[in-house]
Amino acid sequence: MLKSWESGSKIIDLNAPTAAGKTLNLYVFGKVLEKEYFVSNILFTSPQVSLIQEGNLFDLPKIVGKHNYKCLGIPGYTAEDCPFGSREPGFARCSECPYRIAKAAFKKANFRATTFARYQVDPSLYLDTKVLEVDESTNLPNALLDSATIKLNIAVKKTNLAERKELLKKELLKLDIKDYLNEYSQVLQKKLKEVTINCKDVRKDIIGANRKLTARETKMLSKVRKEYSYYRNNLDSCNQALRYLSLEVPYVLTTDNEEVFNVSTRRKELTVSPYFKLLDCKVPFADLVAKLDCVVLASGTPTTELLTNKAISVDVMHPIPIDRRTIYYDPVGAMTKDGRFRFAKPMAKKISQLHDMFSEKTIVHCGNYQIANLINEHLCRLQPNVLVQFPGERNEVLKHWMRLDNAIFLSVAFEQGLNLEGPEYPMNIVAKVPFPNLGDDWIQARNKYDNYMWYSKTVAIQVQQACGRTTRTPKDNSMTYILDGSFGPLLARNKNLFQKWFLDALVIC
Ligand code: SF4
Repeated sequence: MLKSWESGSKIIDLNAPTAAGKTLNLYVFGKVLEKEYFVSNILFTSPQVSLIQEGNLFDLPKIVGKHNYKCLGIPGYTAEDCPFGSREPGFARCSECPYRIAKAAFKKANFRATTFARYQVDPSLYLDTKVLEVDESTNLPNALLDSATIKLNIAVKKTNLAERKELLKKELLKLDIKDYLNEYSQVLQKKLKEVTINCKDVRKDIIGANRKLTARETKMLSKVRKEYSYYRNNLDSCNQALRYLSLEVPYVLTTDNEEVFNVSTRRKELTVSPYFKLLDCKVPFADLVAKLDCVVLASGTPTTELLTNKAISVDVMHPIPIDRRTIYYDPVGAMTKDGRFRFAKPMAKKISQLHDMFSEKTIVHCGNYQIANLINEHLCRLQPNVLVQFPGERNEVLKHWMRLDNAIFLSVAFEQGLNLEGPEYPMNIVAKVPFPNLGDDWIQARNKYDNYMWYSKTVAIQVQQACGRTTRTPKDNSMTYILDGSFGPLLARNKNLFQKWFLDALVIC
């Protein structure tokens, strides 16, 4: 990496698989730049929030999500609910506020760490940073696309989901998005002004009152602050979108299913909403690097070609011997829309047999809840401890399974960011190759735009990530089985999208 830096490379792609010491490499690189090359303002970041929040970042001063810092002024609150934009000297124990203290240490440091989401919304960070290190950069393209995604405010008659979607699609066809966003930007600016005045008034009444705040006052303070953040974030996204429109970045007006809170029923409900979304992240990436001297993108499954073709690649060998991380492709049947009903039973039988090889903790990647439930119907008759993940209970079920002996976890969307290290986790199974949902309008538009490039790359990455969950260090040892018969055709069509370390460890049964 230093050679690339010395030769003036601006974008370095650090292709380093599991256990290659990505984080340590980035840390040492940053320290050398700081101490020996006297580089100022180096930022370590990642789109993977847990890496910044819980990962070992050595001695780097860091700032994480506000909800991680307890508020000393208002009982039960965190800095996320803080009613003030900055430290309020006259209020309670704000001078000892853990969030503000961490923020001050972060600001002073020359080499520091924060989440990628914060880097995107904090203009001072964007302006100051000279060298940006992005650890686990696989999801960077998605994070950049999301930064200009906007929910559109289009009213249609309330009907069932399918009809609502059709009505919205018709409205979107008629929409002049440039006019809409210009108007929306003005509305947001007006709202932001109002809420800023409101915020100041509320604070004036309360600060210096020298008494305990009433529950109503604390609620009101937080409410105006949250309103402020809401309008601020939307205005930033809106202005971003307008800029990308003027630069002719391809986009789509689309609909998406989402859960929203219904105030009258006080429950979460599924609805369809209209969105503006970009289709390409090359311009957002060019924006990201425009003011930087250097950016390092570190990942075992790089997505750099979706961002730029100007990167210099630095490859690190996989440090774990192949016989400790062998991946067997042993197809039971293709778990397609129709095939899953036919193959759920033999799939459950095979999973049960594989689990019995060790009778420890086995993770099964099911791709979606329907498949997890289908497998569970058969598997629970064969094994005593089967845990199936339900929507909204992600971490609870994971933790429960990790506490059990001899148990199988039918998981959904745990392909990335899970560290199952040690002899307790000898068996890792991919029951469903997690293809992105072809029913999603944005994915259809994206496939039309780049002829399935993003789609194929995404699924190849997800498979490789899933296969890396249970061998985490050079001394660790586990077996991975891919049982979904859809993997064979995927590999045959897209061998070039799989990393060498993955193909070297693959055994076709
Ligand atoms: S600045 Fe004061 S009110 Fe805000 S989070 Fe910190 S301690 Fe709480």
